Amino acid sequence: MIIAVDGPAASGKGTISRALAQHFGLPWLDTGLLYRAVGVATVRGGGDPDDEAAALAACDFDEALLDDAELRSEQAGEWASRVSVHPAVREALVVRQQRFANQPGGAVLDGRDIGTVIAPDADAKLFVTASAESRAARRHADEVALDPDADYAEILADIEERDRRDASRSAAPMRQADDADLLDTTDLTISAAVQRAIALVEARTGRR
Ligand code: C5P
Repeated sequence: MIIAVDGPAASGKGTISRALAQHFGLPWLDTGLLYRAVGVATVRGGGDPDDEAAALAACDFDEALLDDAELRSEQAGEWASRVSVHPAVREALVVRQQRFANQPGGAVLDGRDIGTVIAPDADAKLFVTASAESRAARRHADEVALDPDADYAEILADIEERDRRDASRSAAPMRQADDADLLDTTDLTISAAVQRAIALVEARTGRR
């Protein structure tokens, strides 16, 4: 069983995907981490994330980079969003994602184009979203714990810019697949959102 989970930054899709993987006993791949690794490897190699050749060269990054804490930073998210517009970068990462999706028993993958490009035949597809303001508020709450000066308005502007770039690029833009269920988490607690996601997947697949 393949479960595809897409949606914008800070929508809760990572938390929901992890919970779905645990509930259904499936391995999980956070595909955003691959783009983050390419972004960080590009910059560490002295390249510019907007330069397609430099970003492509960074696609064979060292596997150990996936465990690097810098990948979780806002800055890495921004670089990821810039390298991910390049068609050659997306192509270089497709095989790895499809191999993960098609492993025996299935998998959960989350990203922006899983239900549309990577696993169009997935058994269940969710598009997880929330208002930009509530996503910025969640991210702000996380960041304030580390940096008391974290600025809500700046975070909101970053989120809106990332949404715009991810949804408007020509190569595999972020969009809800026609056969995906929409899950809006704006007014849901984490546990309510997870319960709803499990119910949607059960309804689509008949699996418990
Ligand atoms: O999900 P996350 O915020 O870690 O993703 C970082 C960036 O990587 C996104 O803003 C998006 O530009 C890119 N991405 C993508 N396709 C995916 C996953 C992530 O383009 N499947």
